[in-house]
Amino acid sequence: MSAVCYPRSAMADTIFTKIISGEIPSHRVYEDDLVYAFLDIGPLSRGHTLVIPKEAAETIDALSDESAAAIGRVLPRISRAVLKATGAAAYNILQNNGEDAHQEVLHVHFHIIPVFEKGAAEGAGLGIVWSPRDFNHEKGAALAAEIASLIESGS
Ligand code: 5GP
Repeated sequence: MSAVCYPRSAMADTIFTKIISGEIPSHRVYEDDLVYAFLDIGPLSRGHTLVIPKEAAETIDALSDESAAAIGRVLPRISRAVLKATGAAAYNILQNNGEDAHQEVLHVHFHIIPVFEKGAAEGAGLGIVWSPRDFNHEKGAALAAEIASLIESGS
């Protein structure tokens, strides 16, 4: 398998760089030129899997289109295998960006977290607190227009 080399930025190597290189062992479930996937060492449930780009971007907004596409292409396939192997019927895909968003390892990663019944011996999965607020359409329209314009201008 040929390795793809990315220009290194000033960011420090993380534990995931060492996992990709094999310096730190992992339970690999998938690998291609751009993507590596392995079992999380601190699982929220059985089958908790991490899918990472080989590109060492800290957060998803810093990730190349090429690596993002490569991850998007294999996420469904890896998710299907995790579901089949664990017998779970539901799962969450979690992707944290920034320390304030609970990102501990500063290398882009997608968690695939199977859901099991409450009290399951190996964990029930992701606990979510979801507190929706009222939506203001006037402010929402202005914000949507600003985001759309930034996307259009390529920022
Ligand atoms: P974050 O909070 O950054 O979204 O999640 C980082 C995840 O990486 C955690 O779920 C943690 O258990 C996992 N992790 C951290 N170090 C290692 C490691 O050395 N090996 C594996 N397999 N997972 C790790």
